[in-house]
Amino acid sequence: MLALSKALLRALTYFRAGAELYDVMIVGAGPVGSYLAYRMAELGYKVIVFERRAKVGEAVCCTGIIGKECFDRFPVVNYGVLTQASSAKFFSPSARCLRLSKETAQAYVVDRVVFDSALAEKAQGKGAEYLLSARVENISLRNDGVTARVERRGKVVDFDAKIALISSGFGGALTRRLGLGEIGDFVLGAQAEVVVEKLEEVEVYFGREIAPGFFGWLVPTYPGKALAGLLSRRSPGSHLKSLMESLKAQHKIISTESKITYGGIPLTPLPKTYMERLLVVGDAAGQVKPTTGGGVYYGLLCADIAVDVTHNALCADDFTSRGLSSYEKMWKKKLGRELEIGYWARKLCEKLSDRQGEQIFGIIEANGLHESLLQSPDFSFDWHGNLIMRALKDKRLHQAVRNMTKSSFLLKLSQGR
Ligand SMILES: Cc1cc2nc3c(=O)[nH]c(=O)nc-3n(C[C@H](O)[C@H](O)[C@H](O)COP(=O)(O)OP(=O)(O)OC[C@H]3O[C@@H](n4cnc5c(N)ncnc54)[C@H](O)[C@@H]3O)c2cc1C
Repeated sequence: MLALSKALLRALTYFRAGAELYDVMIVGAGPVGSYLAYRMAELGYKVIVFERRAKVGEAVCCTGIIGKECFDRFPVVNYGVLTQASSAKFFSPSARCLRLSKETAQAYVVDRVVFDSALAEKAQGKGAEYLLSARVENISLRNDGVTARVERRGKVVDFDAKIALISSGFGGALTRRLGLGEIGDFVLGAQAEVVVEKLEEVEVYFGREIAPGFFGWLVPTYPGKALAGLLSRRSPGSHLKSLMESLKAQHKIISTESKITYGGIPLTPLPKTYMERLLVVGDAAGQVKPTTGGGVYYGLLCADIAVDVTHNALCADDFTSRGLSSYEKMWKKKLGRELEIGYWARKLCEKLSDRQGEQIFGIIEANGLHESLLQSPDFSFDWHGNLIMRALKDKRLHQAVRNMTKSSFLLKLSQGR
């Protein structure tokens, strides 16, 4: 009965959004969605962005560490910078510390609410329309276009466009329903704002007690404030509470005021990121560094590719799956190796016991490997494939890793395949 009256209510409140036909519809106003909107609107297309939240940036769960390379490559995203990071301290399971430091800033910490809102304003400034509190429930493809069924304040409205770009972040059901598959592996993140007395550097913590298989962090943001967080496959909230208690006991944290927020992070890509009249970009496509879980830069890089492919499709009036498949080929060419090596390294780290973790820390420290990696041309905040390969060229580290894993991938890697 309840289901019937719900269905009736929906039927009565169903509208079609006039005869308006958009060139491009974008699902999700995260950094990737707003950057797509900015670029497509700048090219002169009629763009609409649907965002299920009432405000852009609302409920975002992200530490906001973005590499300098991203800011250099995308000056338009240069908003909300709180601090810059040129060094970081890494703590082994037994709290042995390795400090990595460069003379110049390697990354910036941004306030994601300010960052996301500024990018959305930029896109609107170019003419993109934003519809907030607008949840896309379904997307259907027709021969002559694509329709989004949007639920907004109790009403259901259909919108039409020539092509849809899905940038709805991790975990949406849309891509599964469209038959594009599901993200095969992911991890959960938990984070809270904390009060600190003096924290000058990013700190990263390893250990199975802290964040089994992954890592925890304390990142300075506003004066006297920091973000404490961690990644874990299970119970990230209770692990984070323990980490915060431990940091309090070490007087690194004075108090924890805000509630814990949670988010999912894809570790592997979506099986398929294109189909007729549709592309998937950003976290929704799994375009994330598996080593750290950072996704803003890779998402933006892939957004640029998506814009080029969409622009070509609109110019040629060719929205076939075959025509749009170049998007996946191009983004995989750019990121595929990074994602593959990064995921292998991530799985290896996950398998390490604390004793093995200590052993690796010891080898790195004793051989000054961290210093030589820092000085090497392969050092990059954003590209870890070459760095991992270079580290594995160290005989002692290579041998230790070989003893710890029977992985044939290591052999493949060391043979440069
Ligand atoms: C704890 C944690 C820490 C992180 N720290 C970092 C970091 O330091 N640096 C970094 O680079 N990355 C970090 N990340 C990852 C980063 O947050 C993501 O990679 C990034 O937000 C992806 O951007 P996006 O635009 O693809 O998706 P999102 O930012 O997730 O945006 C998707 C948007 O789509 C909207 N949406 C979803 N479904 C619908 C729908 N059906 N209809 C309408 N709207 C919809 C959502 O409300 C959201 O606003 C972190 C993640 C976590 C969980």
